[in-house]
Amino acid sequence: MIVTDLNPKGGIGANSLFVELDSFNFIVDAGLNPKFAGNLATPDYTLIGEAYIHFIVITHCHLDHIGSLPVLMRKHPEARVFMSQASQMLIERMLHNSCNVMTRQRAEKNIPEYPLFTHEEIDQAAERFETIPFSKPIQLSEADDEIELTLYPAGHVAGAGGLEISSSGKRYFFSGDVLFDNQCTLDGASFPIENRFETVFLETTRGETQSPKERTRASEIDRLLKTITNVLRRGGSVLIPVFALGRMQEILTLINNARKDGLLPTCPIFGAGLGLAVADHLDQISKRTGQAKFTRKTIKELRLRRPPRGMTPGKEPPEQGIYILSSGMMVEHTPSYNFAASLLSQGRNAICFVGYCDPETPGGKLLETKPGEIFLFDTIDYQTPTRAQIERFEMSGHAGREELLKFALRTHPKKVVLTHGDPGARAWFAIALAENDPALIVIDPKPLEPFEL
Ligand SMILES: [Zn+2]
Ligand SMILES: [Zn+2]
Repeated sequence: MIVTDLNPKGGIGANSLFVELDSFNFIVDAGLNPKFAGNLATPDYTLIGEAYIHFIVITHCHLDHIGSLPVLMRKHPEARVFMSQASQMLIERMLHNSCNVMTRQRAEKNIPEYPLFTHEEIDQAAERFETIPFSKPIQLSEADDEIELTLYPAGHVAGAGGLEISSSGKRYFFSGDVLFDNQCTLDGASFPIENRFETVFLETTRGETQSPKERTRASEIDRLLKTITNVLRRGGSVLIPVFALGRMQEILTLINNARKDGLLPTCPIFGAGLGLAVADHLDQISKRTGQAKFTRKTIKELRLRRPPRGMTPGKEPPEQGIYILSSGMMVEHTPSYNFAASLLSQGRNAICFVGYCDPETPGGKLLETKPGEIFLFDTIDYQTPTRAQIERFEMSGHAGREELLKFALRTHPKKVVLTHGDPGARAWFAIALAENDPALIVIDPKPLEPFEL
């Protein structure tokens, strides 16, 4: 097996692995790096050269895994494209939205190559998508070789799968993004822990996050609800920055349940953007496939409203309430970024992070800012001392590092390849894996350099 990590910058970004195994060439994921723009944001597909790509597997529909898929498919019209049924029901919506964002960025940031693909190309690409069921192998053959693919539920977001590849009597496993815990709207991962793998490709997102024993998902939810209650009682508003896919619908469900149980006071609740469109898809996925547990009724019961537009930085919104807005990392030009600029200067407000924030994004930077320190919103030319309460809740969509370590070790791999993590996160896994199994070969691939397994 020869593998090339096509993500040019390493870390978490334009996720894409090029794998050559026996007679087969395939690609796992085709992402886009949200931290860069233009051609710098895509995987380096030129490294595939003239190789015939037999198939592409999409693990799930976050942009860092699908954002350049039409580009890859354009270059490889012969490749079959596999994903779960729920992913197939989400992917077009996510790609069309990405095309709109790129079209806007073309003008705003003067990026002539944007959009990287058109709406028509997405429609054409969609005709090539093939769904595979969870936990049931499919076989492909080429010359005298046969290969078997199995997608296992990975939790994380609806449709997410870990990929098992079986060839010449050996099994390989690509974790994709994983969450083992159950969420209100999605069951946790169900990976084949009884199987033995030659190599495990392991996501390492939370390698730098220590999981304090006393903090469980349930206790973090409890702390979030208490924080919201306190903020509302003191006359403030709460901003919860969320990913549009998965996290927004989970938080809406959680707040609706809490309110029914009398754990939250009544107040206006605001939500907007792509997350609401995704909510409709999740409702359909839940009804038709059972691969999620979200119902549109939640939005009605919450009487969810659109937040006011055209907020002035430093000026609080006209109505006190809970603002559940994307993006999760408070990226510039998004509702969560603009509302943070409205709330941050007043101590009665709070900004509650409930997911992973890249340290280089505004969300990541705000989490590092101490009370009273100046925080700069540079794209809207506004700065303020940080007076609002800033909290992080460990309700990440990614598994904790100890759980992932336990999973990898349980499958007795000969090799583990570290993926989807910042350098410090990968370093923790490298040390922990070596300590637990000195015979294990741990590979932290250099971007764009093929390595043999
Ligand atoms: Zn993801
Ligand atoms: Zn990811």
